[in-house]
Amino acid sequence: NADLALYHAKERGRDGYYFFTEELNTKALKLLHIEQELRHALQMDEFSIVYQPQVCLKTGSISSIEALIRWNHPVRGEVAPDEFIAIAEETGLIVQIGEWVLKNACMQTQMLQQLTGQPIRVAVNLSSRQFSDPNLETIIEEVLVETGIDPTYLELEVTESMLMDDIDKVIQQLNRIKSAGITITIDDFGSGYSSLSYLKRLPVDILKVDREFVRDIPDDLNDMEITSAIIAIAHKLNLKVIAEGVENIDQRDFLVINKCDYAQGYYFSRPLTFEDLYSFFTAGQLKSA
Ligand code: C2E
Ligand code: MG
Ligand code: MG
Ligand code: MG
Repeated sequence: NADLALYHAKERGRDGYYFFTEELNTKALKLLHIEQELRHALQMDEFSIVYQPQVCLKTGSISSIEALIRWNHPVRGEVAPDEFIAIAEETGLIVQIGEWVLKNACMQTQMLQQLTGQPIRVAVNLSSRQFSDPNLETIIEEVLVETGIDPTYLELEVTESMLMDDIDKVIQQLNRIKSAGITITIDDFGSGYSSLSYLKRLPVDILKVDREFVRDIPDDLNDMEITSAIIAIAHKLNLKVIAEGVENIDQRDFLVINKCDYAQGYYFSRPLTFEDLYSFFTAGQLKSA
């Protein structure tokens, strides 16, 4: 495909060709630069984690908190994960960054449990590179031992595409992880390459409906149909469902009526720093679901 692009660029004439290579070089240089910056960020402790509450729609209580990485760049300020996770994935650095997130999220959640006396589950996002890393299970075990968190308070979010590779291998791996008591959630459900026959075989616990389907409720009838259908399928398969990106009361009401189990979004709370999360738990300021 790169050859094809080059061919088309050449066809456009000399100028087009030069323009193309220049652009390519700029991109490669930019990637290299960010890779160096990410390495540096790990050493200099520039990463932090914010936590977004996930709410049980039946009881209104917090069912879990999702750990979301933040990069506090010394010059550029806060850099969003969408701007660096893909690059970290491409360079392989995501394995180290992901281990850092897993360890620190478990450590802080364990601390929060001790401070508040409440059972709190933490959901950590895994990237595809981490999921296919042969050391993943060892890393998880080490983190569990090191932080002392009970595995029933750990949830891992994976995406559909990670699960579609070698289904039998994936099923075995998920079963081993689950046998420790860890919860498995399929993130961004519906946005990827879902096959319902795979879904039936996969040992997962929760489906997280992609924000894309929630965003235009209640204006988009198709999105409402899709969302209620995902909820129904999940329940038929004995899975729980969470909707992400819930921003207003109409969306919440729709989800309640359609028996969605959990919800997450700015309507309930933005992602919070550890300190704010702690006040949140002790003050109980959560808008009732
Ligand atoms: P995600 O796992 O699907 O996380 C949900 C994203 O939606 C978060 O964006 C969250 O801040 C945002 N969000 C939550 N509620 C709302 C809402 O009501 N409206 C809107 N518009 N957005 C909402 P964030 O933190 O920027 O993260 C983006 C993505 O980056 C995540 O999507 C996840 O795929 C990835 N990511 C974040 N942290 C990590 C991490 O530690 N490891 C890995 N591998 N990926 C991560
Ligand atoms: Mg997620
Ligand atoms: Mg998501
Ligand atoms: Mg997403």
